[in-house]
Amino acid sequence: MKKVLIAGGAGYIGSHMVKWLSQRGLQTVTVDNLSSGHRDAVQFGEFIQLDLADRDALRALFASHHFDAVMHFASSIQVGESVQKPSLYYANNVVNTLILLDEMRAAGVNRFIFSSTAATFGEPKYTPIDEKHPQQPLSPYGRSKLMVEQILEDYERAYGLRSVCLRYFNAAGADPAAELGERHDPETHLIPIALEVAGDLRPQLSVFGTDYDTPDGTCIRDYVHIVDLCQAHGLALDRLLDGKGSGRYNLGNGQGFSVRQVIGCVEQVCGRKLKVAYGDRRAGDPAVLVADATLARQGLGWVPEYADLGQIVSHAWAFMKRHRNLAA
Ligand code: UDP
Repeated sequence: MKKVLIAGGAGYIGSHMVKWLSQRGLQTVTVDNLSSGHRDAVQFGEFIQLDLADRDALRALFASHHFDAVMHFASSIQVGESVQKPSLYYANNVVNTLILLDEMRAAGVNRFIFSSTAATFGEPKYTPIDEKHPQQPLSPYGRSKLMVEQILEDYERAYGLRSVCLRYFNAAGADPAAELGERHDPETHLIPIALEVAGDLRPQLSVFGTDYDTPDGTCIRDYVHIVDLCQAHGLALDRLLDGKGSGRYNLGNGQGFSVRQVIGCVEQVCGRKLKVAYGDRRAGDPAVLVADATLARQGLGWVPEYADLGQIVSHAWAFMKRHRNLAA
């Protein structure tokens, strides 16, 4: 039975990954410092509270388990905060990843799957964004992720550590069984915020900018279902286990939705109108971010199962109703 170390497995994407792998008969060990993750989101496998900065604890972990691969979800993820606190972002996202990679190396584990991001591309030069698009990130967050991508190239050349970097566009949705979902605190993402407004958990939604160069003036994003992201990680794992080479893949549905379209979709799924305020742009938001995921289809065989935005929103809504005890 294959055993996978999931770093950051108590977070939004990591917790879905733990479930996905466990349901397919793989063994998981989750490590998470619980700085933003939730212990109760890790419903399968072994859990160890551990900070990746703790090299000795990692060494002991690798000494007591044989891992076939490592999936790394643990990172700080807020673009705005990264501008205010770059030290935190480079420490958590780069330095701690180096510690993890070096302990993997010392233990002879040489397959790595890394959570990267569309934020490594910066302001789009063309759309949709494929893997040939230049990577010129605009924030310490995006730069921290790009640095790890570059470190991984060097580690492969020097140490033979093979990796797959998966660049998520807008991760969204929830476990179709509604047992897991998005629980960020504070919440900054559009869909959960809109759902909180629909559930009377928040007074209104602020739309960040209505003067973008898009058909309705609001930003366009490519929302990709969390389970489809898990599927891509599963395929990436197969690829590495099969002995195939490293890869870098953009993950999105290739279809963009504006903020106004997302609001319309949430209103339709929840059956109520949202109170919306139209405000200024948020710093650092490109007008359009849409993925060309052709390479993921070709290199991984990735075909998203839940590409429909209504489906993504309804899974997120079902989780929120259950988790926040909202009336059906
Ligand atoms: N957005 C918004 N109001 C909010 C949160 C987000 O108008 O309260 C917009 C944001 O400017 C972006 C889109 O919704 O254009 C998606 O933002 P999110 O934070 O969900 O993801 P990001 O694109 O930053 O990864």
